[in-house]
Amino acid sequence: MKQGRIDYRMARRAVLRDVSSGLRSPQDVCDAHPDLVRAGRNIGSPVDDGCPVCDEHGVRHVTYIFTGKATKKGESGRAIPRDTLATQVKRLGDLNVFTVEVCTDCHWHHLLESFWLTPKDKAVG
Ligand SMILES: [Zn+2]
Repeated sequence: MKQGRIDYRMARRAVLRDVSSGLRSPQDVCDAHPDLVRAGRNIGSPVDDGCPVCDEHGVRHVTYIFTGKATKKGESGRAIPRDTLATQVKRLGDLNVFTVEVCTDCHWHHLLESFWLTPKDKAVG
């Protein structure tokens, strides 16, 4: 069974609220894995808005894909350039797609959305 698009912006806002009110420290939430930061630098999509934590303009959106077949727990997805999604879904079949926000300056990161993509979907992106 395939779920629709899941939006994580509410959870993201809650985390940011905790940081601005001092409930959580920035160090607590700015702990992106080096691989994620690297993916952000190399293949992430630039974002117009400044970072919600450090205000710098190092924020990137990174796209991760998991194939529909037997995704084991703990198995990490593959980061891909967003504009290759259409090619990937054609080659690999059903994909579970995750968009992650990462700041290459302070290493803030948060999941933004996840959705399933099938080769039948026309609009990709
Ligand atoms: Zn930042």
